[in-house]
Amino acid sequence: MPDLTPDEFRSLGHLFVDAVADARAGIERHPVRDAVAPGTVRARFAREAGEDPEPLAAFPSLVEAVTGDADTRWQHPGFHAFFPANASLTSLLGELLSGGAGAQGMLWSTSPACTEVEQAVTDQLARALGLDETFTHDGGGGGSIQDSASSAALVALTAALHRAAPDPATGWRARGVTGAERVYVTAETHSSLAKAVRVAGLGAGGLRSVACSPGTRAMDPAALAAMLADDVAAGLVPVLVCATVGTTSTGASDPVAEVVAAAAPHGAWVHVDAAWAGVAALCPEHRWVLGGVNPAPDAGGVDSFCTDAHKWLLTAFDASLLWVRDATALPAALSITPPYLRDAHSDSGAVVDFRDWQVPLGRRFRALKLWAVLHGQGLSGLRAHLRGHVALAAELAERVRAHDGLELACDPVLSLVCLRASAGDAATTALLERANGDGRVLLTGTEVAGHPVVRVAFGGVATGPEHLEILWDVLSA
Ligand SMILES: *Cc1c(COP(=O)(O)O)cnc(C)c1O
Repeated sequence: MPDLTPDEFRSLGHLFVDAVADARAGIERHPVRDAVAPGTVRARFAREAGEDPEPLAAFPSLVEAVTGDADTRWQHPGFHAFFPANASLTSLLGELLSGGAGAQGMLWSTSPACTEVEQAVTDQLARALGLDETFTHDGGGGGSIQDSASSAALVALTAALHRAAPDPATGWRARGVTGAERVYVTAETHSSLAKAVRVAGLGAGGLRSVACSPGTRAMDPAALAAMLADDVAAGLVPVLVCATVGTTSTGASDPVAEVVAAAAPHGAWVHVDAAWAGVAALCPEHRWVLGGVNPAPDAGGVDSFCTDAHKWLLTAFDASLLWVRDATALPAALSITPPYLRDAHSDSGAVVDFRDWQVPLGRRFRALKLWAVLHGQGLSGLRAHLRGHVALAAELAERVRAHDGLELACDPVLSLVCLRASAGDAATTALLERANGDGRVLLTGTEVAGHPVVRVAFGGVATGPEHLEILWDVLSA
Protein backbone atom coordinates (compact mmCIF):
# COMPACT_ATOMS: atom_id res chain seq x y z
CA MET A 1 0.00 0.00 0.00
CA PRO A 2 1.19 3.55 -0.66
CA ASP A 3 1.83 4.20 3.00
CA LEU A 4 3.61 2.85 6.02
CA THR A 5 2.02 -0.04 7.80
CA PRO A 6 1.04 0.78 11.37
CA ASP A 7 4.03 -1.23 12.58
CA GLU A 8 6.44 0.62 10.29
CA PHE A 9 4.94 3.86 11.55
CA ARG A 10 5.49 2.74 15.11
CA SER A 11 9.19 2.08 14.67
CA LEU A 12 9.88 5.10 12.45
CA GLY A 13 7.83 7.25 14.80
CA HIS A 14 10.38 6.68 17.56
CA LEU A 15 13.11 8.06 15.28
CA PHE A 16 11.08 11.13 14.43
CA VAL A 17 10.16 11.79 18.05
CA ASP A 18 13.85 11.45 18.92
CA ALA A 19 14.67 14.00 16.23
CA VAL A 20 12.20 16.50 17.70
CA ALA A 21 13.44 15.90 21.23
CA ASP A 22 17.11 16.22 20.17
CA ALA A 23 16.41 19.44 18.30
CA ARG A 24 14.73 20.99 21.34
CA ALA A 25 17.39 19.71 23.73
CA GLY A 26 20.19 21.15 21.61
CA ILE A 27 18.53 24.34 20.44
CA GLU A 28 20.77 26.64 22.48
CA ARG A 29 23.84 25.40 20.63
CA HIS A 30 22.46 27.35 17.67
CA PRO A 31 21.93 31.08 17.24
CA VAL A 32 18.30 32.19 17.43
CA ARG A 33 18.53 33.22 13.80
CA ASP A 34 20.98 31.94 11.23
CA ALA A 35 22.49 34.48 8.89
CA VAL A 36 21.11 33.05 5.68
CA ALA A 37 20.98 34.54 2.19
CA PRO A 38 17.74 34.27 0.22
CA GLY A 39 17.73 31.18 -2.00
CA THR A 40 20.14 29.21 0.20
CA VAL A 41 17.68 26.51 1.16
CA ARG A 42 16.09 26.17 -2.29
CA ALA A 43 19.51 25.83 -3.90
CA ARG A 44 19.99 22.61 -1.92
CA PHE A 45 17.11 20.97 -3.77
CA ALA A 46 17.35 19.30 -7.17
CA ARG A 47 15.08 20.83 -9.81
CA GLU A 48 12.98 17.68 -10.14
CA ALA A 49 11.40 15.54 -7.43
CA GLY A 50 12.97 12.10 -7.09
CA GLU A 51 11.37 9.26 -9.06
CA ASP A 52 12.18 6.53 -6.57
CA PRO A 53 11.28 6.31 -2.89
CA GLU A 54 13.99 6.70 -0.31
CA PRO A 55 14.04 5.40 3.24
CA LEU A 56 12.15 7.66 5.60
CA ALA A 57 14.49 6.72 8.42
CA ALA A 58 17.04 9.13 6.93
CA PHE A 59 14.54 11.93 6.59
CA PRO A 60 15.13 13.75 9.90
CA SER A 61 18.85 14.01 9.18
CA LEU A 62 18.12 15.14 5.62
CA VAL A 63 15.89 17.92 6.94
CA GLU A 64 18.60 18.86 9.42
CA ALA A 65 21.21 18.93 6.64
CA VAL A 66 19.05 21.14 4.40
CA THR A 67 17.54 23.55 6.94
CA GLY A 68 19.57 23.12 10.13
CA ASP A 69 21.89 26.06 9.48
CA ALA A 70 19.41 28.26 7.64
CA ASP A 71 16.45 29.08 9.80
CA THR A 72 14.99 31.28 12.53
CA ARG A 73 14.36 29.27 15.69
CA TRP A 74 11.05 30.29 17.17
CA GLN A 75 11.38 27.78 20.01
CA HIS A 76 14.81 29.10 21.05
CA PRO A 77 14.61 30.49 24.59
CA GLY A 78 16.38 33.64 23.36
CA PHE A 79 13.51 34.39 20.99
CA HIS A 80 12.03 37.65 22.25
CA ALA A 81 10.87 38.96 18.88
CA PHE A 82 7.26 39.68 17.77
CA PHE A 83 5.32 37.60 20.29
CA PRO A 84 6.92 34.20 20.88
CA ALA A 85 4.80 31.29 19.63
CA ASN A 86 5.36 28.72 22.30
CA ALA A 87 4.88 25.31 20.68
CA SER A 88 5.15 23.18 23.81
CA LEU A 89 6.12 19.55 23.45
CA THR A 90 2.97 18.84 25.46
CA SER A 91 0.85 20.32 22.70
CA LEU A 92 2.78 18.44 20.01
CA LEU A 93 1.64 15.18 21.57
CA GLY A 94 -1.96 16.32 21.18
CA GLU A 95 -1.14 17.40 17.62
CA LEU A 96 0.09 13.89 16.88
CA LEU A 97 -3.19 12.37 18.04
CA SER A 98 -5.09 14.89 15.97
CA GLY A 99 -3.13 14.11 12.82
CA GLY A 100 -3.54 10.43 13.57
CA ALA A 101 -7.31 10.70 13.75
CA GLY A 102 -7.25 12.57 10.43
CA ALA A 103 -10.79 13.74 11.09
CA GLN A 104 -12.66 16.51 9.26
CA GLY A 105 -14.85 18.27 11.77
CA MET A 106 -16.84 20.43 9.36
CA LEU A 107 -20.21 19.12 10.54
CA TRP A 108 -21.04 17.69 13.92
CA SER A 109 -21.77 14.36 12.24
CA THR A 110 -18.49 14.28 10.29
CA SER A 111 -16.70 14.19 13.65
CA PRO A 112 -18.79 14.43 16.80
CA ALA A 113 -15.57 14.09 18.79
CA CYS A 114 -13.85 17.00 17.04
CA THR A 115 -16.90 19.20 17.54
CA GLU A 116 -17.72 18.35 21.11
CA VAL A 117 -14.16 18.32 22.46
CA GLU A 118 -13.80 21.80 20.98
CA GLN A 119 -17.06 22.92 22.61
CA ALA A 120 -16.08 21.44 25.97
CA VAL A 121 -12.54 22.80 25.97
CA THR A 122 -13.52 26.30 24.86
CA ASP A 123 -16.25 26.33 27.53
CA GLN A 124 -13.74 25.25 30.17
CA LEU A 125 -11.28 27.88 29.04
CA ALA A 126 -13.92 30.60 28.95
CA ARG A 127 -14.72 29.88 32.60
CA ALA A 128 -11.05 29.64 33.56
CA LEU A 129 -10.37 33.03 31.96
CA GLY A 130 -13.37 34.60 33.67
CA LEU A 131 -15.44 35.20 30.54
CA ASP A 132 -19.15 35.55 31.19
CA GLU A 133 -21.26 32.41 30.85
CA THR A 134 -22.88 33.94 27.72
CA PHE A 135 -19.57 33.25 25.90
CA THR A 136 -20.00 29.49 26.42
CA HIS A 137 -21.86 26.94 24.32
CA ASP A 138 -23.84 26.13 27.44
CA GLY A 139 -24.79 29.80 27.76
CA GLY A 140 -26.01 30.60 24.25
CA GLY A 141 -22.74 31.74 22.73
CA GLY A 142 -19.62 29.72 22.25
CA GLY A 143 -15.96 29.38 21.44
CA SER A 144 -14.27 28.03 18.35
CA ILE A 145 -10.67 27.40 17.39
CA GLN A 146 -9.67 29.43 14.35
CA ASP A 147 -6.38 29.20 12.51
CA SER A 148 -5.38 32.73 13.49
CA ALA A 149 -6.53 35.96 15.10
CA SER A 150 -6.60 37.33 11.56
CA SER A 151 -9.23 34.78 10.55
CA ALA A 152 -11.11 35.47 13.77
CA ALA A 153 -11.29 39.16 12.87
CA LEU A 154 -12.48 38.32 9.37
CA VAL A 155 -15.31 36.06 10.52
CA ALA A 156 -16.32 38.59 13.19
CA LEU A 157 -16.47 41.27 10.51
CA THR A 158 -18.46 38.97 8.22
CA ALA A 159 -20.97 38.34 11.02
CA ALA A 160 -21.14 42.06 11.78
CA LEU A 161 -21.78 42.92 8.13
CA HIS A 162 -24.51 40.34 8.02
CA ARG A 163 -26.11 41.57 11.22
CA ALA A 164 -26.17 45.11 9.80
CA ALA A 165 -28.28 44.08 6.78
CA PRO A 166 -29.74 40.57 7.05
CA ASP A 167 -32.24 39.14 4.60
CA PRO A 168 -34.02 36.30 6.42
CA ALA A 169 -35.67 35.14 3.20
CA THR A 170 -32.42 34.23 1.45
CA GLY A 171 -29.94 33.89 4.29
CA TRP A 172 -27.68 36.32 2.46
CA ARG A 173 -27.01 39.92 3.22
CA ALA A 174 -29.82 41.98 1.79
CA ARG A 175 -27.31 43.74 -0.45
CA GLY A 176 -23.62 43.70 -1.22
CA VAL A 177 -21.34 46.20 0.45
CA THR A 178 -22.46 49.65 -0.62
CA GLY A 179 -19.43 51.72 0.26
CA ALA A 180 -21.23 53.06 3.34
CA GLU A 181 -19.99 50.40 5.79
CA ARG A 182 -17.40 51.54 8.30
CA VAL A 183 -14.99 49.68 10.62
CA TYR A 184 -13.30 51.55 13.48
CA VAL A 185 -9.74 50.93 14.63
CA THR A 186 -6.75 53.02 15.75
CA ALA A 187 -3.26 53.45 14.36
CA GLU A 188 -2.16 50.84 16.94
CA THR A 189 -4.66 48.17 15.85
CA HIS A 190 -3.11 45.06 14.31
CA SER A 191 -2.92 45.10 10.51
CA SER A 192 -5.12 41.99 10.38
CA LEU A 193 -8.16 44.24 10.86
CA ALA A 194 -7.25 46.29 7.79
CA LYS A 195 -6.74 43.03 5.92
CA ALA A 196 -10.18 41.80 6.99
CA VAL A 197 -11.66 45.05 5.68
CA ARG A 198 -9.92 44.48 2.36
CA VAL A 199 -10.98 40.85 2.12
CA ALA A 200 -14.57 41.83 2.89
CA GLY A 201 -14.40 44.24 -0.04
CA LEU A 202 -15.08 47.40 1.93
CA GLY A 203 -12.46 49.54 0.23
CA ALA A 204 -10.02 51.99 1.75
CA GLY A 205 -12.79 54.32 2.92
CA GLY A 206 -14.26 51.49 4.98
CA LEU A 207 -11.49 51.67 7.54
CA ARG A 208 -11.75 54.54 10.01
CA SER A 209 -8.82 55.35 12.27
CA VAL A 210 -9.99 56.73 15.61
CA ALA A 211 -7.60 59.02 17.45
CA CYS A 212 -5.88 57.81 20.58
CA SER A 213 -6.23 59.74 23.82
CA PRO A 214 -3.46 62.32 24.17
CA GLY A 215 -0.28 60.82 25.54
CA THR A 216 -1.58 57.24 25.25
CA ARG A 217 -1.72 54.65 22.53
CA ALA A 218 -5.31 53.75 23.46
CA MET A 219 -8.48 54.60 21.57
CA ASP A 220 -10.09 57.85 22.71
CA PRO A 221 -13.73 56.88 23.41
CA ALA A 222 -14.91 60.48 22.97
CA ALA A 223 -13.27 60.61 19.55
CA LEU A 224 -14.93 57.29 18.70
CA ALA A 225 -18.35 58.55 19.81
CA ALA A 226 -17.93 61.73 17.77
CA MET A 227 -16.77 59.86 14.69
CA LEU A 228 -19.68 57.41 14.95
CA ALA A 229 -22.20 60.23 15.29
CA ASP A 230 -20.71 62.14 12.35
CA ASP A 231 -20.65 59.03 10.18
CA VAL A 232 -24.26 58.13 10.98
CA ALA A 233 -25.33 61.72 10.27
CA ALA A 234 -23.58 61.41 6.90
CA GLY A 235 -25.58 58.27 6.07
CA LEU A 236 -22.74 55.84 6.76
CA VAL A 237 -23.17 52.49 8.56
CA PRO A 238 -20.93 51.68 11.56
CA VAL A 239 -20.50 47.92 11.31
CA LEU A 240 -17.72 46.98 13.70
CA VAL A 241 -15.43 48.54 16.26
CA CYS A 242 -12.27 46.67 17.16
CA ALA A 243 -10.89 47.25 20.64
CA THR A 244 -7.43 45.86 21.24
CA VAL A 245 -6.24 44.57 24.59
CA GLY A 246 -2.46 44.42 24.41
CA THR A 247 -1.35 45.91 21.11
CA THR A 248 1.40 44.17 19.21
CA SER A 249 3.63 47.20 19.15
CA THR A 250 3.68 48.24 22.82
CA GLY A 251 1.00 46.30 24.71
CA ALA A 252 -1.39 49.27 24.98
CA SER A 253 -5.08 48.57 25.60
CA ASP A 254 -8.18 50.36 24.38
CA PRO A 255 -10.84 51.17 27.02
CA VAL A 256 -13.25 48.35 26.18
CA ALA A 257 -16.15 49.43 28.41
CA GLU A 258 -16.15 52.94 26.95
CA VAL A 259 -15.84 51.57 23.43
CA VAL A 260 -18.88 49.35 24.06
CA ALA A 261 -20.83 52.33 25.42
CA ALA A 262 -19.97 54.42 22.35
CA ALA A 263 -20.76 51.65 19.86
CA ALA A 264 -24.01 50.42 21.45
CA PRO A 265 -26.35 53.23 20.30
CA HIS A 266 -25.35 52.53 16.70
CA GLY A 267 -25.65 48.75 16.86
CA ALA A 268 -22.04 48.24 15.81
CA TRP A 269 -20.43 44.90 16.60
CA VAL A 270 -17.60 45.17 19.13
CA HIS A 271 -14.73 42.76 18.60
CA VAL A 272 -11.92 42.51 21.13
CA ASP A 273 -8.54 41.55 19.74
CA ALA A 274 -6.57 40.25 22.71
CA ALA A 275 -4.47 37.93 20.56
CA TRP A 276 -1.43 38.07 22.80
CA ALA A 277 -2.61 39.40 26.18
CA GLY A 278 -5.98 37.70 26.60
CA VAL A 279 -4.66 34.44 28.01
CA ALA A 280 -3.22 36.36 30.98
CA ALA A 281 -6.76 36.46 32.37
CA LEU A 282 -6.11 32.94 33.65
CA CYS A 283 -4.24 34.69 36.48
CA PRO A 284 -6.60 36.57 38.80
CA GLU A 285 -4.07 39.40 39.17
CA HIS A 286 -4.12 39.98 35.39
CA ARG A 287 -7.87 39.73 34.94
CA TRP A 288 -7.95 43.44 34.13
CA VAL A 289 -7.43 42.34 30.53
CA LEU A 290 -11.13 41.41 30.50
CA GLY A 291 -12.29 44.83 31.68
CA GLY A 292 -15.47 45.78 29.81
CA VAL A 293 -15.57 42.47 27.91
CA ASN A 294 -18.28 40.83 30.01
CA PRO A 295 -21.83 42.15 30.16
CA ALA A 296 -22.65 43.97 33.39
CA PRO A 297 -25.90 45.39 34.78
CA ASP A 298 -25.09 48.78 33.25
CA ALA A 299 -23.08 47.66 30.19
CA GLY A 300 -23.67 45.43 27.22
CA GLY A 301 -20.34 43.63 26.91
CA VAL A 302 -18.68 42.86 23.62
CA ASP A 303 -19.85 40.65 20.76
CA SER A 304 -16.65 38.70 20.22
CA PHE A 305 -13.37 38.11 22.04
CA CYS A 306 -10.24 36.60 20.56
CA THR A 307 -7.01 35.39 22.09
CA ASP A 308 -4.31 33.17 20.61
CA ALA A 309 -3.46 29.95 22.43
CA HIS A 310 -0.60 29.70 19.92
CA LYS A 311 1.19 32.76 21.25
CA TRP A 312 1.47 32.51 25.01
CA LEU A 313 -0.65 29.51 26.03
CA LEU A 314 1.80 26.72 25.20
CA THR A 315 -0.20 25.48 22.20
CA ALA A 316 1.56 24.91 18.88
CA PHE A 317 0.32 27.07 16.01
CA ASP A 318 -2.47 27.12 14.93
CA ALA A 319 -4.95 27.67 17.73
CA SER A 320 -6.67 31.03 17.94
CA LEU A 321 -9.64 31.13 20.29
CA LEU A 322 -12.69 33.11 19.23
CA TRP A 323 -15.68 33.43 21.51
CA VAL A 324 -18.99 35.00 20.53
CA ARG A 325 -21.96 35.72 22.77
CA ASP A 326 -24.55 34.81 20.15
CA ALA A 327 -24.14 31.28 18.81
CA THR A 328 -26.33 32.12 15.81
CA ALA A 329 -24.28 35.12 14.65
CA LEU A 330 -21.56 33.32 12.69
CA PRO A 331 -23.83 30.65 11.12
CA ALA A 332 -26.28 33.38 10.09
CA ALA A 333 -23.54 34.96 8.03
CA LEU A 334 -21.67 31.87 6.83
CA SER A 335 -23.99 28.86 6.58
CA ILE A 336 -24.67 27.55 3.06
CA THR A 337 -26.02 24.03 2.66
CA PRO A 338 -25.77 22.23 -0.68
CA PRO A 339 -27.37 18.76 -0.85
CA TYR A 340 -24.12 16.94 -0.10
CA LEU A 341 -23.80 18.75 3.23
CA ARG A 342 -27.40 18.25 4.29
CA ASP A 343 -27.57 16.33 7.53
CA ALA A 344 -30.35 15.24 9.85
CA HIS A 345 -28.41 16.23 12.97
CA SER A 346 -27.73 19.68 11.52
CA ASP A 347 -31.42 20.04 10.67
CA SER A 348 -32.39 19.07 14.21
CA GLY A 349 -30.73 22.23 15.51
CA ALA A 350 -29.33 20.21 18.39
CA VAL A 351 -25.70 20.33 17.24
CA VAL A 352 -23.02 22.84 16.27
CA ASP A 353 -21.53 22.60 12.78
CA PHE A 354 -18.25 24.44 13.08
CA ARG A 355 -17.95 24.87 9.29
CA ASP A 356 -20.42 27.72 9.83
CA TRP A 357 -18.02 29.47 12.23
CA GLN A 358 -15.12 29.84 9.79
CA VAL A 359 -14.23 30.47 6.15
CA PRO A 360 -13.00 27.00 5.09
CA LEU A 361 -15.29 23.98 5.05
CA GLY A 362 -12.87 21.37 6.38
CA ARG A 363 -11.34 21.68 9.80
CA ARG A 364 -8.72 19.89 11.84
CA PHE A 365 -9.14 18.41 15.30
CA ARG A 366 -7.22 21.33 16.82
CA ALA A 367 -8.88 20.95 20.20
CA LEU A 368 -6.75 17.90 21.02
CA LYS A 369 -3.54 19.89 21.35
CA LEU A 370 -5.31 22.42 23.54
CA TRP A 371 -6.81 19.65 25.64
CA ALA A 372 -3.36 18.06 25.96
CA VAL A 373 -2.03 21.38 27.28
CA LEU A 374 -4.91 21.80 29.72
CA HIS A 375 -4.66 18.20 30.82
CA GLY A 376 -0.89 18.05 31.01
CA GLN A 377 -0.28 21.42 32.68
CA GLY A 378 -3.47 22.10 34.56
CA LEU A 379 -4.52 25.66 35.20
CA SER A 380 -1.83 25.90 37.88
CA GLY A 381 0.86 25.00 35.34
CA LEU A 382 -0.47 27.52 32.85
CA ARG A 383 -0.53 30.25 35.49
CA ALA A 384 3.03 29.44 36.54
CA HIS A 385 4.13 29.69 32.89
CA LEU A 386 2.48 33.11 32.44
CA ARG A 387 3.65 34.44 35.81
CA GLY A 388 7.22 33.40 35.15
CA HIS A 389 7.36 35.57 32.04
CA VAL A 390 5.61 38.50 33.70
CA ALA A 391 8.20 38.34 36.47
CA LEU A 392 11.06 38.32 33.95
CA ALA A 393 9.60 41.39 32.23
CA ALA A 394 9.28 43.19 35.58
CA GLU A 395 12.89 42.33 36.45
CA LEU A 396 14.13 43.56 33.06
CA ALA A 397 12.17 46.80 33.47
CA GLU A 398 13.78 47.33 36.90
CA ARG A 399 17.25 46.89 35.43
CA VAL A 400 16.49 49.24 32.55
CA ARG A 401 15.27 51.91 34.98
CA ALA A 402 18.48 51.61 36.96
CA HIS A 403 20.79 51.62 33.92
CA ASP A 404 22.46 54.82 32.76
CA GLY A 405 22.38 54.08 29.05
CA LEU A 406 18.88 52.61 28.77
CA GLU A 407 15.35 53.81 29.49
CA LEU A 408 11.82 52.49 29.21
CA ALA A 409 9.90 53.77 26.20
CA CYS A 410 6.63 53.08 28.03
CA ASP A 411 5.49 51.10 31.06
CA PRO A 412 5.94 47.36 30.65
CA VAL A 413 2.73 45.40 30.05
CA LEU A 414 2.57 41.79 31.27
CA SER A 415 5.57 40.15 29.54
CA LEU A 416 6.39 42.93 27.08
CA VAL A 417 9.07 45.57 27.71
CA CYS A 418 9.72 48.46 25.32
CA LEU A 419 13.03 50.22 25.83
CA ARG A 420 15.46 52.53 24.10
CA ALA A 421 18.93 53.93 24.41
CA SER A 422 19.05 57.15 26.44
CA ALA A 423 21.46 58.58 23.87
CA GLY A 424 18.70 58.84 21.26
CA ASP A 425 17.28 57.31 18.11
CA ALA A 426 20.53 56.39 16.37
CA ALA A 427 21.81 54.66 19.49
CA THR A 428 18.51 52.77 19.84
CA THR A 429 18.69 51.55 16.25
CA ALA A 430 22.31 50.53 16.79
CA LEU A 431 21.36 48.71 20.00
CA LEU A 432 18.77 46.63 18.15
CA GLU A 433 21.24 45.76 15.39
CA ARG A 434 23.95 44.83 17.86
CA ALA A 435 21.60 42.68 19.94
CA ASN A 436 20.31 40.79 16.92
CA GLY A 437 23.83 40.36 15.58
CA ASP A 438 24.89 38.63 18.80
CA GLY A 439 23.00 35.42 17.96
CA ARG A 440 21.88 34.61 21.49
CA VAL A 441 18.71 36.70 21.35
CA LEU A 442 16.28 37.98 18.75
CA LEU A 443 14.33 41.21 19.27
CA THR A 444 11.91 43.26 17.19
CA GLY A 445 11.93 47.00 16.77
CA THR A 446 8.92 49.27 16.69
CA GLU A 447 8.18 52.97 16.98
CA VAL A 448 6.59 55.04 19.71
CA ALA A 449 5.59 58.58 18.72
CA GLY A 450 7.80 58.31 15.66
CA HIS A 451 10.92 57.25 17.56
CA PRO A 452 12.57 53.82 17.32
CA VAL A 453 12.04 51.46 20.23
CA VAL A 454 13.33 47.98 21.03
CA ARG A 455 10.67 45.46 22.04
CA VAL A 456 11.47 42.56 24.35
CA ALA A 457 8.71 39.95 24.54
CA PHE A 458 9.04 37.09 27.03
CA GLY A 459 6.97 34.05 26.19
CA GLY A 460 9.14 31.22 24.90
CA VAL A 461 8.23 27.87 26.37
CA ALA A 462 11.82 27.33 27.59
CA THR A 463 12.62 30.96 28.45
CA GLY A 464 13.63 31.25 32.09
CA PRO A 465 15.65 33.44 34.47
CA GLU A 466 18.97 32.31 32.96
CA HIS A 467 17.86 33.74 29.62
CA LEU A 468 17.14 37.08 31.20
CA GLU A 469 20.81 37.10 32.25
CA ILE A 470 21.91 36.40 28.67
CA LEU A 471 19.57 39.08 27.36
CA TRP A 472 20.82 41.58 29.92
CA ASP A 473 24.39 40.76 29.03
CA VAL A 474 23.59 41.61 25.40
CA LEU A 475 21.53 44.74 26.13
CA SER A 476 23.70 46.30 28.81
CA ALA A 477 27.06 45.79 27.10
C1 LIG B 1 -0.28 38.53 16.70
C2 LIG B 1 -1.46 39.41 16.69
C3 LIG B 1 -2.47 39.27 15.73
C4 LIG B 1 -2.37 38.31 14.58
O1 LIG B 1 -2.26 37.02 15.03
P1 LIG B 1 -2.44 35.76 14.07
O2 LIG B 1 -3.06 34.75 14.98
O3 LIG B 1 -1.08 35.40 13.60
O4 LIG B 1 -3.35 36.13 12.95
C5 LIG B 1 -3.58 40.07 15.84
N1 LIG B 1 -3.69 40.98 16.82
C6 LIG B 1 -2.74 41.16 17.75
C7 LIG B 1 -2.94 42.17 18.83
C8 LIG B 1 -1.58 40.39 17.71
O5 LIG B 1 -0.63 40.57 18.63
